[in-house]
Amino acid sequence: MKTLDDLLAEGVSGRRVLVRADLNVPLDGETITDDGRIRASVPTLGKLTGAGARVVVTAHLGRPKGAPDPKFSLAPVAVRLNELLDATVTLASDVVGDSAKSTVDGLADGEVALLENIRFDARETSKDEAERAGLAADLASLADVFVSDGFGVVHRKQASVYDVAKLLPAYAGGLVLAEVEVLRKLAGDPERPYVVVLGGSKVSDKLAVIESLLPKVDRLLVGGGMCFTFMAAEGMGVGASLLEGDMIDTCKKLLAESGDKIMLPADVVIADEFAADADAETVLAAEIREGWLGLDIGPITAERYGAVLADAGTVFWNGPMGVFEMAPFAEGTRAVAQSIVDSSAFSVVGGGDSAAAVRALGLPEDGFSHISTGGGASLEFLEGKELPGVAVLEAS
Ligand code: ADP
Ligand code: MG
Repeated sequence: MKTLDDLLAEGVSGRRVLVRADLNVPLDGETITDDGRIRASVPTLGKLTGAGARVVVTAHLGRPKGAPDPKFSLAPVAVRLNELLDATVTLASDVVGDSAKSTVDGLADGEVALLENIRFDARETSKDEAERAGLAADLASLADVFVSDGFGVVHRKQASVYDVAKLLPAYAGGLVLAEVEVLRKLAGDPERPYVVVLGGSKVSDKLAVIESLLPKVDRLLVGGGMCFTFMAAEGMGVGASLLEGDMIDTCKKLLAESGDKIMLPADVVIADEFAADADAETVLAAEIREGWLGLDIGPITAERYGAVLADAGTVFWNGPMGVFEMAPFAEGTRAVAQSIVDSSAFSVVGGGDSAAAVRALGLPEDGFSHISTGGGASLEFLEGKELPGVAVLEAS
């Protein structure tokens, strides 16, 4: 793989460098609630601008439906990037249209053009190779070389991640390199016991991951929305909690095969509605009330998980243990995160919301060995899947 350092050694002054960054930050209206991904993109961008490159950044935000939508504009991101980078950042008002062209044409050495949300163009995520290639060609026409630095999207075969890397000389950015290096450590020969903590809301995605992770791990601690599908597989009532009915059989099979490795909540915090001011109480896992939702793991569970984490040699954590955005349901995530901080294990946090939770709950970022910017990408890597956005760089 050619790297950012190789590119810098070649010299980039005056050259147009297209960077695929991951700037997909959580927003509350136009306010960025966690700027971690923007900050993670700064080292690579700063090296390029510092060396006099004309930097063209492409990125996505949220899931617009293939057309411009002001709700998903990168405008707030441009403002924040401008504050964090020691370089002028100008936002183009379109993806690869007239505004993009004139903004890039107007760049001086060491300046940055941020193209509007790449997912405003339906070709970005198209399954049709020719459509994606068309957008990739438009992107490529705006630059001389390509740097792939959006680790959070390298598992996606998308125009700005994959196809464009075939059209320009392509290099791995500093963030992608650092992430891949850490994950190789986990996928290789992790120090044992190797404990994986899984939670969050993308239940069906993550259940698929568990299958391939289970043989490699010593313990799997389950929380978040996915624990209810496991609990249902054990025959418990889960009320109105998140439930993936068609995955119950998969969970039954996993429990039958590897039940000794899988830990499920002993108690949960339930609420009568999905709201911060809902009526809430803590009950044993088998006592979830009809119509109520499980929104966090309970204190007994947090303590049991904490005991396992205290002895771990390696920890990978993806997915909050509860709806941490609401204070009454944040304690499980806080406790598990604190246990990881307190353990001497090599610890990796993967997942946008998990990383945001670490910061939102005030845990020290340096209490973890590595906080990954990519949830899906890191999970797929650990599953042993090839990441298209990395493979294309290796072939370049
Ligand atoms: P990550 O981004 O770290 O991979 P996910 O995107 O899968 O994590 O899930 C994060 C979301 O999961 C959070 O917004 C959180 O509120 C939600 N969540 C966690 N536990 C539950 C639960 N029991 N019920 C519903 N949502 C949950
Ligand atoms: Mg998420």
